[in-house]
Amino acid sequence: MTSSKKQARISLRDALVPVRAGQRLTLGARAAAPPSSIPDKKALEERTAALLKRLETLQAAFHADGSRALLLVLQGRDAAGKDSTIRTVVGACNPMGVRIASFGPPSTLELRHDYLWRVHQAMPPRGVIGVFNRSHYEDVLVVRVRKLAPESVWKPRYRQIVEFERMLVENGTVIVKCFLHISHDEQRLRLQERLDDPAKNWKFRLGDLEDRAHWTQYTNAYRDMLSRTSTAHAPWYVVPADEKRVRNYYIAQLLVKTLESLNPKYPRMDPAVSRAAHGFT
Ligand code: ADP
Repeated sequence: MTSSKKQARISLRDALVPVRAGQRLTLGARAAAPPSSIPDKKALEERTAALLKRLETLQAAFHADGSRALLLVLQGRDAAGKDSTIRTVVGACNPMGVRIASFGPPSTLELRHDYLWRVHQAMPPRGVIGVFNRSHYEDVLVVRVRKLAPESVWKPRYRQIVEFERMLVENGTVIVKCFLHISHDEQRLRLQERLDDPAKNWKFRLGDLEDRAHWTQYTNAYRDMLSRTSTAHAPWYVVPADEKRVRNYYIAQLLVKTLESLNPKYPRMDPAVSRAAHGFT
């Protein structure tokens, strides 16, 4: 067995299962905590390190292969760890083959278009892993909870998003969606840390507190989002994210699993190049 195969075998234990279409999740504190099957700290760190090494190898081939694009959607409440996931997990990849897009409140121009306009433009091209730090799902989350549009506008979006993602998948993009799930208590700790740490203060927005005050409304909105938009072609995974190590482990595992299923191959050298390069000095 090659060493890369050994790494793959290590990686695929305790895999997360996708949300089933129509599944109603409670999204309570228990689902945010590490599952009991999770290995101890040292074993987890070793496995994650092996996964990240494997991710680096697979991404190099995926980038060179250039036949498919991969989109990783990261959604979660404030301080759920979206930025940190990008730094620690996606950071294992060569930045040449990665495109990160963050979605804040739409600009005046974006508001004059349909809500998927800016999203479509940010999609990764073939050979690239795109990461959405928030996404088009804000248009059925914040827009619903903060009543930025009436129900008659946001409700049809579940269907529109499923259809939009189907079109993307049928045209060569693989989509994996992660909801980073943190508990109410863990968010309080992390927001407090942001207030206390001068290097993190800048991340704190008044809106974070307002969103926290709407905890239950967001839970309902996330629940509907998961049950209505998790599909076989673009599945959602609920990542227990109260423990950063556990979160990283699962997301590294999902990326490795997805890239392995694509079996990326380095292109063969052009025979003309090979002939011309033969015996060059
Ligand atoms: P983050 O909180 O992800 O670190 P920001 O501080 O820039 O990043 O916050 C992004 C904000 O933009 C969030 O409050 C989010 O709800 C909001 N946002 C994203 N997309 C939309 C949208 N389509 N409509 C309204 N608000 C949005």
